[in-house]
Amino acid sequence: MTPSPKIGFISLGCPKALVDSERILTQLKIDGYQVSPSYEEADLVIVNTCGFIESAIDESLDSIGEALNENGKVIVTGCLGVKEKLIRERHPQVLSVTGPHAYEETVNAVYQHLPKPSHNPYIDLVPAQGIKLTPKHYAYLKISEGCNHRCRFCIIPSLRGDLVSRPISAVMQEAEGLVNAGVKELLVISQDTSAYGVDLKYQTEFWQGRPLKSQFNSLCATLGSLGVWVRLHYVYPYPHVDDVIPLMAEHKILPYLDIPFQHASPTILKSMKRPAQIDNTLARIQQWRDICPDITLRSTFIVGFPGETETDFQLLLDFLEEAQLDRVGCFQYSPVDGAAANALPNPVDDEIKEDRYHQFMQKQARISSKKLAQKIGRTVSVMIDGKEDEKYIGRSTADAPEIDGLVFVESTNELNPGDVINIKITHADDYDLWGTQSC
Ligand code: SF4
Repeated sequence: MTPSPKIGFISLGCPKALVDSERILTQLKIDGYQVSPSYEEADLVIVNTCGFIESAIDESLDSIGEALNENGKVIVTGCLGVKEKLIRERHPQVLSVTGPHAYEETVNAVYQHLPKPSHNPYIDLVPAQGIKLTPKHYAYLKISEGCNHRCRFCIIPSLRGDLVSRPISAVMQEAEGLVNAGVKELLVISQDTSAYGVDLKYQTEFWQGRPLKSQFNSLCATLGSLGVWVRLHYVYPYPHVDDVIPLMAEHKILPYLDIPFQHASPTILKSMKRPAQIDNTLARIQQWRDICPDITLRSTFIVGFPGETETDFQLLLDFLEEAQLDRVGCFQYSPVDGAAANALPNPVDDEIKEDRYHQFMQKQARISSKKLAQKIGRTVSVMIDGKEDEKYIGRSTADAPEIDGLVFVESTNELNPGDVINIKITHADDYDLWGTQSC
C-alpha cells in the first residue's frame, strides 16, 4: 500500500482563521491525507495567513519564506491571500494563493499539486467533529463570516465581505457533534456575533425536530441547552444584546460578554463610525450587572486614533474608571493598508500613543487587581486545562482561553482537562488567581 501524502499546516491569526484551518484539514483528512508535524516529513505545506496589521503581514510573509526554505512546496491561503501580488513579489515560488474562507479553492490547489490518495471515506476513520487544532475539551464555533459595519479602522469587511450567517440547523449540528465528541466549552465566534441571522432574515430551521429561528437570542438559548460552557465573543453592542443577559443570570450560557467598545469619547466613536452614546453604555452595563451580578465584561479599546485629543483620552480613562470592566485589551492605533481611517486628519504622534497606552493599561491593571482581590475567599467554578509542576491550571467562567487569566489549582484529586470543579480562591494578582479544590 502506498503511504498517504502528508500535509504540513501553519495556522496564523485569530480564532476565525483557526476555524478555517480546521475546516481545510478536516476535508483533507476525509480525502485520506495525513497531517505532518514537521517540515521534513511533509510533502507540501499550507500556510494560513493573517493580513490584519503590519506586524501580522510580516509574520505571514516570514512564515511563507520559512516553509519554502524548509520544504519547498507551499500553498498560501487566508486573509493575506487577498494581496497575492505582495506575496508573489516576495515569494514567487509559492504554488497557489487563495483568500480567506476559500476552503474549496485551497483543497483543490492541494489536489492539483499533491494528488489525492486512493481512499475510502466509509472505511477510514475521521472523527465526527472533524480535525480540531484546539485542545480536545474546548472548541471554537464559527456562526457567520463577514460584517455589515464599516468601522473606519477596520478592513475586515473588505477582506471577508458582508455578513453571511450559517443557518441555525448547521450551527447546532456542529455544536452537537462537538459536544458528543467530548468538547466541554464552546467559544462562539464570528466578526459580529450579535448580528447573527440578519442576512438570513432570521429564517426558521429545524433541529432535533424543533423549529428554531436563525437569530442571536434563539441561538444562545439553544446552545445553552447542550449542557456545556458557552462563551460569547465579538459581540457588537446592539440594544438586543440586553436580551441574552437573563440567559447568563440563569446559568444557561456563561456570564461572560466579550463586547468591544473601542473608545468612550463620542467624537472619536463618531469618527470611528461606532455607536457613540457612551452614557447609554454605562447605564446598560449597570443594568446588566443588576440582572446578572456575576457577569464578566471583556472589551477592547484603541488609543491614538486620528484626531484623539487629551480631552478625548481623558473621557476614555473616566469611562474605564466608571465602567470597572473585568478584562480589557488595548491597541495603539496603527494605520492598516486600505483602512478608511488613514485619510483622517490629525494623526497622533507615536510617543503620545505610547504614553496613552501605558496610562490606560496602568489604570486597568489597578482595576483588574482590585476586582480579582475581591474574589479571595469566594468559591468559583473552574475548568481544568492541564497540569504543570504539580499544579493544575484552569480557567474560571471569567476567563476565555488564550486571552484572559488563569487559575492555578491545588488538589489532591486526579483531574483531567475539561473537568469542572469548585475552587476556593486563596490568592490573586493583577490577572490570575490561585486556589484549592473545595469539597
Ligand atoms: S464591527 Fe468589527 S469586524 Fe465589523 S467593521 Fe467594525 S471592527 Fe470590523
